Amino acid sequence: MRNKDVTVSLEEALEIILDSVSPLSGEDISIMEASNRVLYEDIVSDIMIPPVDDSAMDGYAIIADNTNRASKNNPIKLKIIGEIQAGGSIIGKQVSKGTAIRIMTGAPIPEGADSVVRFEDTEEEARCVKIFREVVKHENYRTAGENINKRDHVLCKGDRLSSADVGILASLNYNTVKVYKQPTVSIISTGDELADIGEKTQTSRIRNVNAYTLYSEVRKYNGLPDYLGIVKDTLKDMKEIFSKALMSNVVISSGGVSTGKYDLIKEIYSDLNIEIQFEWVNVKPGRPCVFGKKDNKLIFGLPGNPVPTLTSFIQLVRPALLRLMGAKKIKKPIVNAFLEEDINSAKVHHLVRGFFTIKNNEFYVSTTGNQKPSVLRSMSAANCLIIIPENITKVKAGEKVAIQLIDHDEI
Ligand code: AMP
Ligand code: MG
Repeated sequence: MRNKDVTVSLEEALEIILDSVSPLSGEDISIMEASNRVLYEDIVSDIMIPPVDDSAMDGYAIIADNTNRASKNNPIKLKIIGEIQAGGSIIGKQVSKGTAIRIMTGAPIPEGADSVVRFEDTEEEARCVKIFREVVKHENYRTAGENINKRDHVLCKGDRLSSADVGILASLNYNTVKVYKQPTVSIISTGDELADIGEKTQTSRIRNVNAYTLYSEVRKYNGLPDYLGIVKDTLKDMKEIFSKALMSNVVISSGGVSTGKYDLIKEIYSDLNIEIQFEWVNVKPGRPCVFGKKDNKLIFGLPGNPVPTLTSFIQLVRPALLRLMGAKKIKKPIVNAFLEEDINSAKVHHLVRGFFTIKNNEFYVSTTGNQKPSVLRSMSAANCLIIIPENITKVKAGEKVAIQLIDHDEI
């Protein structure tokens, strides 16, 4: 029977889970493996980028004042006294009144010069350059340290590394970087009725789907999944597999959390001294959902139907994995969208599978069809979840609704 004390709202469930998370320790890895991993250290620069003042364009290093009143019909002529390539040396090279040095993008600015005129505004003739326009001081001129200065706090502990972040680490000469370890995650499918991929089935058996959606999600969020197989609905088999699963940082099972005769998850938790934190979440789909902890381990008993398994993962397990990995950003963005069809709801907090489009900078959303918890197709077609709050029975086409962008990175 449903016990009121162990029913929580989705927000409360998330709070309870996040309170139970102790982030993992750090490890050094190559920056080539670091994409999407979470920084365990602050990155403070000890160098300047660029290291010296340099040119932003291919052109001529000059003194801007020398180009006063220059125009297409009245070009200024300067004598070319040398050339500097990117990575080249400026030793012995000095620009003075009436002279210019040919310079390439990224090359150091020679002494005396205060700007660069790009090739397109010039014409070379004999050993001189004709300049067709007035140049402003510091035009096409990059100052040392303007990208990154010494002691700049460039990246922070808890940042999930983007490709640009990895590039910044490379520019700061990091070969390796310290990131949070990846949580190990055991995945279990419970149910006598389940047949795994490749197994011959009678028509009434149900193909194991959840292990594979969960495996895919765990990988997507950088956990290390270990699929332990299908377990029969007997106390003995379940106890054996759950004891093994508890070697991991996180255990995720699906099925067996409802009130049916063979729903044994809660009994197993209590046998294994897993402290149950909640048993029901006030959300549809995903109402039966058990969360327990033992030492630092997080144990999730997700519903058996494929859609609530996945939506419960997105709402509750995903943020836990990200926090275990120290990530600061764990929220999927929520935006408002114009609803394109009526939705009837049953006064429960309802997450409806939807597909949003953007027209003229406005979000529009429609449902992806059959919303039964067993219909994974409408989840596969979804790129968002339409949030219908509790106590609402109907939302009409044209009204604004909140949608959660489940395919978007965390913010
Ligand atoms: P349960 O909560 O164990 O009664 O499961 C609810 C429904 O989800 C039943 O119809 C199960 O057959 C189905 N189900 C449970 N586990 C899986 C799974 N791993 N893959 C696909 N369907 C499942
Ligand atoms: Mg079952």
